[in-house]
Amino acid sequence: MKGKKTLKQLKLAVPEQEAAVDKFLTASGTFKDGDLRLNQKGLRLISEETETPAPDVKEIDLQPEDLEAIKVIGKGSGGVVQLVRHKWMGTFYALKGIQMNIQETVRKQIVQELKINQVSQCPHVVVCYHSFYQNGVISLVLEYMDRGSLADIIKQIKTILEPYLAVLCKQVLKGLVYLHHERHVIHRDIKPSNLLVNHKGEVKITDFGVSAVLANSMGQRDTFVGTYNYMSPERISGSSYDYKSDIWSLGLVILECAIGRFPYIPEEAEGWLNFYELLEAIVDQPPPSAPSDQFSPEFCSFISACIQKDPQERMSSLELLDHPFIKKFEDKDIDLGILVASLDPPVNVPE
Ligand code: ATP
Ligand code: MG
Repeated sequence: MKGKKTLKQLKLAVPEQEAAVDKFLTASGTFKDGDLRLNQKGLRLISEETETPAPDVKEIDLQPEDLEAIKVIGKGSGGVVQLVRHKWMGTFYALKGIQMNIQETVRKQIVQELKINQVSQCPHVVVCYHSFYQNGVISLVLEYMDRGSLADIIKQIKTILEPYLAVLCKQVLKGLVYLHHERHVIHRDIKPSNLLVNHKGEVKITDFGVSAVLANSMGQRDTFVGTYNYMSPERISGSSYDYKSDIWSLGLVILECAIGRFPYIPEEAEGWLNFYELLEAIVDQPPPSAPSDQFSPEFCSFISACIQKDPQERMSSLELLDHPFIKKFEDKDIDLGILVASLDPPVNVPE
């Protein structure tokens, strides 16, 4: 592609004395962190040269000035997500801005997010096409998921029936198998707003802001950013934790979609549990379960395979893909696209 250097060329182009310095912002506005180079032209990873782009990721030379803002589609704790359109190609993307004037630890996690996103090769993990750094904001050009998040869906329909849940869950599990078994990362923030859906009924995991590579050399990282609602008991109590922590979160999300409320909030709640009561309940109380008079034995068994307080008792993402609840609806031709088409889209995209 015109003007685009290969990773190898870029590595050669970095003077040795610069490469030796860990992180800084150069006078020309290039943000450097380890082997990442981030400026207005985009992000380049100068190591990991063996990585190849995902086969479905088109080689697009996305420049920030070629993207026009359409509207704000979401707000998170780190910044705003905008729907943007490529001026010449007409394609839509979600542009996620992350403020940079944040703690060093958080920034490191975000840089990690960029790294993982850039090399994602899974149809159930949201693609990050490009990233750039401008005026103190890191922006990620993400695959636009036109039906928003699972949080948007359950706000509209409150509960999701078992067949649809099985189809949805299978896709999330495939994403988790990829992250856990191929990328060796814990996501750490599986929650309804991080599971995105498109009109084709595809479900994809996004946001690796709190994930970290579980490389042997790095060991465990204990910094945290995000909501505590879906956090596993072992994480809350400060014990060591692993991939199984994501399985706990997935179980809670799926149960919430089935029963129409966050499982730790009692049905006839006189008020929300406060923050400490919630953490205490997760650590000290028996885990929530699916009521057997309302749900199939397969569903109840699936939930209990995920929501076990002892992480060793929880099934892995790979094992769960073979669970009878997932298998039960596999040949039933259930189309999640039909369900989402019946809902109001989160944003009306202009033609
Ligand atoms: P938090 O920041 O606390 O983790 P969050 O996940 O809701 O919360 P963001 O990740 O910033 O925060 O996302 C905000 C919202 O933007 C999401 O809930 C979702 O509705 C929307 N959104 C994010 N990414 C995309 C995308 N790629 N396509 C479509 N909508 C998106
Ligand atoms: Mg998010």
